[in-house]
Amino acid sequence: MSTILVTGGAGYIGSHTVLELLNAGHRVVVVDNLDNSSAESLRRVEALTGKTVEFHLLDLLDRGGLDLIFKRHRIDAVIHFAGLKAVGESTQQPLRYYHNNITGTLHLLEAMKAAGCKTLVFSSSATVYGDPERVPLTEGCALRTTNPYGATKLWIEGICRDLAKAESGWHILLLRYFNPVGAHESGRIGEDPQGIPNNLMPFIMQVAVGKREFLNIWGNDWATPDGTGVRDYIHVVDLAKGHLAALAKAPELPGATAINLGTGNGISVLDMWRAASAAVGRELPYRFAPRRPGDIAACYADASLAKNLLGWSAHYNVAQMCTDHWRWQQANPNGYSG
Ligand code: NAD
Ligand code: UDP
Repeated sequence: MSTILVTGGAGYIGSHTVLELLNAGHRVVVVDNLDNSSAESLRRVEALTGKTVEFHLLDLLDRGGLDLIFKRHRIDAVIHFAGLKAVGESTQQPLRYYHNNITGTLHLLEAMKAAGCKTLVFSSSATVYGDPERVPLTEGCALRTTNPYGATKLWIEGICRDLAKAESGWHILLLRYFNPVGAHESGRIGEDPQGIPNNLMPFIMQVAVGKREFLNIWGNDWATPDGTGVRDYIHVVDLAKGHLAALAKAPELPGATAINLGTGNGISVLDMWRAASAAVGRELPYRFAPRRPGDIAACYADASLAKNLLGWSAHYNVAQMCTDHWRWQQANPNGYSG
C-alpha cells in the first residue's frame, strides 16, 4: 500500500481519481484550497468507498504548509491536479493564472525535493499542442499555446523536464488530457462548474436540465466532416484509471515523460449533441452561432504511447459518457451546493 498525495483532489478529475486510488488500496492525502470545488465531493467518495481521505485545506502558494504535509505523512508519490483551468479567465487574469499554477507547482516540487519524494504525475493538457500541426496528435507534435492557461501547462512541463535532467531519481509523468466528460456511474460525484459553463458537455447537460434554453454550436463551417468542431472526449473514470496506470509504471520511467490520455476518436459537436439527446431521451434544442474566438477545428489523440508505456487505454464510449454525465446532472442539478 502506498501513500499518495493528491493536490486538487476535491475537484472534478481529482475526486474521481481519489475514488479509484482508495478502491485500489492506496492511502490518500488530499490538499486543496477549495477555490473551485467543494469538500462534499470527498465526503461522497468516502461514502462510496467506505474508506477515509486525509483532507487538508491548503493553498499550494503556502510553501511552509506544504512542508508540514510532507513531514506529517511519508508520501510515496504525488498526483498534481491543483490549478486554475478556465482558458477565457486566464486571458483576463494572466498574473493570477501564472502565479497560482506555476508558483504553486514550484512550491510543490521544492517540497517534494526536500522530502525526497521524486515521483510525480502532473495534469497537463492537449492545449499544449495549440492549433494542432496535424491530427491525430502524437507526443512529438509541435508545442505552442495561445493563452495564459496553456502557457502555464507548457512552462510546468518544461520545469519538470529541466528538473529531471538536472537531478537523478525523478520519475515524472506529464499526462496530456484531451476532453474529460462523464461522471462516476453512481451519479454521486461529477463536474460542478461555477456560473455559465464554457465546455460543451456541462453546457448541454444544463440545457437538458432546463437551466439553459438551447445549445449554441460555435460554427458549422469548420473543415471537419460535418462542419462542427471535433474533439477527443474521454470518460473521467477512464482518465482516473490512467493515473493509477501511470503510478504503477512510474518506477520504470525515469526522467520526465509526456503521454497523451485520450481515446483516439474524433467526435464532432453534432455527434455529441446526438449522443446527449439519446441519453436524455429527447432532442435537445440547439442553434448554430458564429465561431468562438480562439477555437480550433479538430483535436484528437494518437493514444498509442499510453497503451505501449502504461498498458492503459480508454474503454467507455460516447453513449456511456453522456449517460453517466446525465445521471449526475439529473440527481445534482445544482452540483454539490444543491
Ligand atoms: P477542478 O477545478 O475541478 O480541480 C482543480 C482543483 O484544484 C480544485 O479543487 C481547486 O480548488 C484546486 N486548486 C486550484 N488552485 C489551487 C491551489 N493554489 N492550491 C490548492 N488547490 C488548488 O479541475 P479539473 O477539471 O479536475 O482539472 C484538474 C487538472 O487537470 C487541472 O490542472 C486542469 O488544468 C487539468 N486539465 C483539466 C481538463 C478539463 O477539461 N477538465 C483538461 C486538461 C487538463
Ligand atoms: N462548443 C460549442 N458550444 C458550447 C461549448 C463548446 O459548440 O457551448 C464546441 C467548441 O466550439 C468545440 C467543442 O464544443 O468545438 C469542445 O469545446 P470545449 O470548450 O468543451 O473544449 P475545448 O474547445 O477546450 O477543447
